[in-house]
Amino acid sequence: MPSFHNYVNGLRVPADDYQENINPSDTADVIGLFPRSGPAVLDGAVSAAQSALPSWSATSPQVRADLLERIAAGILGRAQELGDILAREEGKTLPEAIGEVTRAGHIFRFFSGEALRMSGQRLDSTREGVRAGSLREPVGVIGIITPWNFPIAIPAWKTAPALAYGNTVVLKPAELTPASASALADIIHDAGLPPGVFNLVMGQGSVLGDALAHHEQIDALSFTGSERVGKQLAAIGAQRLMPVQLEMGGKNPLVIAADADLDIAVDCAIQGAFYSTGQRCTASSRIIVERTIYDRFLERLHAAMSSLTVGDARAPGTNIGPVVDRRQLQTNLDYLAMAPAGSVHGGELLELEADGFYLSPAIITDVTNSHVTSREEIFGPIASVIRAESYEDALSIANDTPFGLSAGICTTSLSLAEDFQRRADAGMVMVNLPTAGVDPHLSFGGRKRSSYGAREQGDSAKDFFTQVKTLYVRP
Ligand code: ADP
Repeated sequence: MPSFHNYVNGLRVPADDYQENINPSDTADVIGLFPRSGPAVLDGAVSAAQSALPSWSATSPQVRADLLERIAAGILGRAQELGDILAREEGKTLPEAIGEVTRAGHIFRFFSGEALRMSGQRLDSTREGVRAGSLREPVGVIGIITPWNFPIAIPAWKTAPALAYGNTVVLKPAELTPASASALADIIHDAGLPPGVFNLVMGQGSVLGDALAHHEQIDALSFTGSERVGKQLAAIGAQRLMPVQLEMGGKNPLVIAADADLDIAVDCAIQGAFYSTGQRCTASSRIIVERTIYDRFLERLHAAMSSLTVGDARAPGTNIGPVVDRRQLQTNLDYLAMAPAGSVHGGELLELEADGFYLSPAIITDVTNSHVTSREEIFGPIASVIRAESYEDALSIANDTPFGLSAGICTTSLSLAEDFQRRADAGMVMVNLPTAGVDPHLSFGGRKRSSYGAREQGDSAKDFFTQVKTLYVRP
């Protein structure tokens, strides 16, 4: 069985301990052995990143742009192969996985250009004879901790801006999906990035992730994952006065207005709630439907759900892959068991040819917005369908959540669409689109308990990955 190693200071470094990476579509298929490193690996990785920092941060932006472009080309040139690895270890379908890899390539390409746009300002001072302005500088060594659900796109969207703006990186990916991060490290190596600029360490979150966050020599921490861990990391950052960027959960509303085009509405609900097995922080997990259209919408939704094929992530024709692992599957079943009697449709464990974590997509109908299944993020192919008396009622239900990542509405009315875009209390608002699915060149992030710190991606990325220096001069 192949073994994969940490990547430190430009070299593959063996670990003390390894763990199996299992295919959730077929638990008999072991992808390989990946490091289960303890904190000891961090000293080498962080000090390599510190040593590489002065020269990397001083390189011409053209050098950084060219290297990022080479990484983008490396990713895009291997999109099929990387997509296959991703689908095999994470369980999203092959087209989704190839799409994610392609997006990771595009992210590197976008930030290749951004390396040349680390813009400052030039202003006249209020004082006679004084010139003033500002410039942007790298922050330093960035610790990056990523989740399993986008195992190449999320490492890419944190690593690419970090590198573009002259920082160095220590990445700790999720235990469940180290193969995609490992492939990314190979591509970065082959692109010719100087040793130490990018380092990859693999191991348990509670051990290695925690030690990375506590490491005295990292200058900032960017994390995507659960709210529980995010809060711990914010506390660690606060203790050290270290900048922390957190992307956490969602309980995203999709409002189906009475005047919605039903084909579009059903399509948005199916894609938003169930694609990627619902394992997206932007999933449409609360579908809020106006009373007058509720029965018709539900009938169409049922029909569309019954045509979905759940199966091996890499098999042609699969619409919904398996749940990522046994623990997440159990979490999904536990939430379904909490639903009011008779309200669950779907959500059956499926016995397929291979032993995988297969669950049919589920809706919980006529459930209130205060029920636990409507309040907490489940992170599976499960959506609450909530009845609203009117558009105003739907809007107030949509905003009545501790989260605020993404919100959507399906409507044919321009004025309703605009009203919803203004009044939805979320970081991202979609009209006639699923709540999930975003572009790499626009800001990503949420409000309330979904996000903390500066926004990610697009030109917002520089707010976290650079620091501003203000300059005054009397020439
Ligand atoms: P999920 O429930 O999606 O797995 P987690 O927040 O547990 O979300 O994991 C997201 C990332 O955070 C993973 O890389 C995981 O290894 C890491 N992680 C988990 N626990 C900790 C911790 N205590 N400190 C730092 N990182 C952690």
